[in-house]
Amino acid sequence: MSEQLNPEVIMETFSAQKVKIAVADGDGIGPEIMDATLRILEAAGANIEAEHIQIGEKVYLSGNSSGIPTEAWEVINRNKIMLKAPITTPQGKGYKSLNVTLRKSLNLYANIRPCRSLHPFVQTMHPDMDVVIVRENEEDLYAGIEHQQTHEVVQCLKLISIPGSERIIREAFEYAVANDRQKVTCMVKDNIMKLTDGVFHEIFNRIGAEYPQIEQEVQIIDIGAARLATRPDRYDVVVTLNLYGDIISDITAELTGSVGMAGSSNIGKNYAMFEAIHGSAPDIAGKGIANPSGLLNAAVMMLQHIGDIEVAQKISNAWLCTLEDGVHTGDIFNPEFSTKRVNTAEFADAVIERLGKLPQKLKPVHFVAAERHAFSDLFDPLAAPVEYGDKELVGVDIFLDRNNRDPKSLGDALRNIKGTGLQLKMITNRGVKVYPDGNPETFCTDHWRCRYIAEDIDLSAGVIYKEVAKETIIRQLSVLLEQGFDVVKTENLYHFGDKRGFSLGQGE
Ligand code: NAD
Repeated sequence: MSEQLNPEVIMETFSAQKVKIAVADGDGIGPEIMDATLRILEAAGANIEAEHIQIGEKVYLSGNSSGIPTEAWEVINRNKIMLKAPITTPQGKGYKSLNVTLRKSLNLYANIRPCRSLHPFVQTMHPDMDVVIVRENEEDLYAGIEHQQTHEVVQCLKLISIPGSERIIREAFEYAVANDRQKVTCMVKDNIMKLTDGVFHEIFNRIGAEYPQIEQEVQIIDIGAARLATRPDRYDVVVTLNLYGDIISDITAELTGSVGMAGSSNIGKNYAMFEAIHGSAPDIAGKGIANPSGLLNAAVMMLQHIGDIEVAQKISNAWLCTLEDGVHTGDIFNPEFSTKRVNTAEFADAVIERLGKLPQKLKPVHFVAAERHAFSDLFDPLAAPVEYGDKELVGVDIFLDRNNRDPKSLGDALRNIKGTGLQLKMITNRGVKVYPDGNPETFCTDHWRCRYIAEDIDLSAGVIYKEVAKETIIRQLSVLLEQGFDVVKTENLYHFGDKRGFSLGQGE
C-alpha cells in the first residue's frame, strides 16, 4: 500500500482533510444507485470528497473508443481511489472494455468479491454461505488479444504469467489470514489447459505450502462451479483465474439473493477501485427500482480501505437493519420475508433512517481495523523468479490458411519439401491430429497447425526434440511462401530445461 493510502496516515489527518475520491456515475442504473449510495455516505458522515468524472457510454459515443477522456485520467491519477458505478460498453466493434482498461492500466491485479447470505431476511437456498471470490484481474482471456486468422477461425490468446499468478494466489492466502478465514480453494481447468491453468495450480501448491494453517484444496472449475451453486457453504475463500472468477462471482452473488447485492474491490499497489459486481442493467434503467446494495457494499469496502472504519461499520449495520426489517427492492422482494417493496431512493432513505442502529437478528458487523485488501507490498513476485532451466528452441508450429480440407494432400505436399533443416512432424486441425494417420471422421476447418522439428530426427524412433536455429525457421517460412502456402501465424516450440513448453496435439 502506498503512503497516500496508508490508513494510519489518513486517520491522523482525518479531522483536517477529506479524502478525495474519483466518482464515476456510470450508465444505465449507474446514476440512480450512485446517487443513493452517495446520499447514504454523506448522511453517515463519510470523510470523503467526491470528484465526479465522466466515463463510459457517452464518451464512447462521442468518438473516444477508450471510453475515458484525459480529464478523467487526471482525476483518477490524482486521487488514486475510485468509486465506480457500472458502465455500458456499446455493442459493436472497436470499443475496448473500459473496465478492463482501468483494471490493467492501474495495475488493479486483485478483484475481491465477498458474497454472504442474509438468511432469513433475504431469500436464498443457502442460509450459511459466506464466500469470498479472489479473482485474478488482469490476465487470462481478458488480455483481449484476438485475431481472425482465416475465413473460418478466430482466436483469443489466453495469457497467464507466473508473477501475476503468484501475486493473486498470495493475495488470497494473505486475505484469508488477515480476515480469519479457514480455507482457500483454487479453481482451474488444468486437466485440459495443462500449461496455462497448470502453472496456476503449480504455484498454488508452492505458495500454499507457506500457509500450513490454512486448509487448501484444488478443484476443476466445472465441478467447482457446480458445487459452489449447490453447496456454497463448503467454501470460504476461492482463488481463480480472471474468466472463471467473473463467472463464479456472479453465481455466488446471485445465490445470496440477487446479483444486485454484492460489492467488489479492485486492488493494486497504489490504486484501488470499488464497484458493484453487476452491470448497468439497461432493462431496468431509468425506472428508479434498482437495488443500490452492491455499490453501497463497494463503498463500505472503500471506507474500510481508507481507514474510515466507524462510518463503514455504521453504514453496514444500518443496511443490515434495513434488510432485516424487510424493506426490500424489487429484486429481493418476497412476500414471505419482505414487509415493504421500495424503490432505489426509498431504500437509501430507509438505510439513512437506521444509521446508528444495530441489527437485532442478523449479526452486526464489527470492523476492528482498516481492512487490508492489497498485500502486494509484502512481496515482490519479480524478486525471486522461478527457475525453469535453459530456454531451448526445438521446433515451430506454422499455421496455414487452406481451403482444401484434405489433410493427407496437405501433409504429403509439405513432406515433399526437403532440405530446409526442418521436417513436418504432424498436422492438427482445431488441436486434433489429422496427419499422419488422422481419423477420416474428424471435421476440418481452413485453419491448419503444422508442427515442424529438426530434419535429422528419426520420427520412427519416437519423439526426440533437439535444438533448431531461428534462421532455420525463417528459411522454412520462405520456402512455404515461395510455394504458395498462406502462412497466418507461427509459434516457436521451446523447452525450459526438462520442461516441455508446449502442448501435444490431441492424438499426437
Ligand atoms: P447486468 O448485471 O447489468 O444485468 C443482469 C440482470 O441483473 C438484469 O436482469 C438486471 O436487471 C439485473 N440487475 C443487475 N443489477 C441489478 C440491481 N442493482 N438491482 C436489480 N437488478 C439488477 O448484466 P448485463 O445485462 O449482462 O450487462 C448490461 C451492461 O452492463 C453491458 O453493457 C455490460 O457490458 C455492462 N457491464 C458492466 C460492468 C461494469 O461496469 N463493471 C459489469 C458487467 C456488465
